[in-house]
Amino acid sequence: MEPMEENVPLRSYSTFRIGGPASYFAEARSVGELQALISSWFPRPLLIVGKGSNCLFDDRGFDGLVILNKIAHCVMQEGTISVGAGFSFSLLGAQTARKGYAGLEFASGIPGSVGGAIFMNAGANGQETKETLMRVEVVTKEGKLRTFHREELRFAYRYSSFQENDCIIVGATFALTKAPEARQKQLGFIRYRTETQPYDDPSIGCVFRNPPGKSAGSMIEICGLKGARIGGAIVSEKHANFIVNRGDARAEDVLALMAHVEKVVFEKQGILLEREIRYIPYRLM
Ligand SMILES: Cc1cc2nc3c(=O)[nH]c(=O)nc-3n(C[C@H](O)[C@H](O)[C@H](O)COP(=O)(O)OP(=O)(O)OC[C@H]3O[C@@H](n4cnc5c(N)ncnc54)[C@H](O)[C@@H]3O)c2cc1C
Repeated sequence: MEPMEENVPLRSYSTFRIGGPASYFAEARSVGELQALISSWFPRPLLIVGKGSNCLFDDRGFDGLVILNKIAHCVMQEGTISVGAGFSFSLLGAQTARKGYAGLEFASGIPGSVGGAIFMNAGANGQETKETLMRVEVVTKEGKLRTFHREELRFAYRYSSFQENDCIIVGATFALTKAPEARQKQLGFIRYRTETQPYDDPSIGCVFRNPPGKSAGSMIEICGLKGARIGGAIVSEKHANFIVNRGDARAEDVLALMAHVEKVVFEKQGILLEREIRYIPYRLM
């Protein structure tokens, strides 16, 4: 097991490139390493991070231990694939589609880990992570290994029971179906993404959830907010539901810009947008 490091900048572990230092930081490459870290650290504040593609870390960092999930095995058998939670969700989508399996084509281009995708019930193009999920292996906060079958878990739009139960996802199995058109579908999704989303600038994806029957991006655009800027944080000109970091953005710039967007959209359209991204405060409540 790698030793625990101190004062590690979290901006290096977020696709937003924002965030101060974690007081303590360690990588877990196996379930055993993760269990050892948890049992030595429990009950002090702990945060598990996958690819950091949905996390806005505070400018002061995180007062606790951040564990980077690097558990990344991958075993494919006819019709099922079992992966470590640190495995790239995007790669999972591309690899399964390339092998002619349908169900995870939408994952290609989502720059998260499998654990982060299950935690968020990530989705795109009318598909969601929960749909092909069979079971999830977790380590509880006391360090015990446990398996949940799909029926034992609750999922909704960008929601899973894991947002409430403190478990750390270590692996998952997905059931896929043979479909020769899967690869073409996946390539079409990736093309559309790169045409419509700002992949060249650091971001953490869509900032706000879509209100029922509406597109948060269109609502923000109609309010004339594309290009709105606070410090180094800018509402993307390409997709209004993305905030991008033009190099020197701070978390406080992003928080202020989100509050500004919420205020203008509420004043002009009467709907209070809900945040999709996860803001990680310096101290957990
Ligand atoms: C360019 C871009 C495009 C995107 N497009 C989409 C999209 O189309 N659809 C979509 O849904 N999202 C999208 N996202 C957002 C993001 O990629 C997803 O939410 C992704 O699932 C987050 O995974 P992650 O590993 O990066 O999670 P992280 O950001 O590392 O963590 C997010 C949350 O999950 C928790 N978590 C992470 N791993 C675990 C684990 N193993 N066990 C328990 N909790 C865990 C963290 O503690 C944190 O609270 C996009 C992001 C970017 C930057």
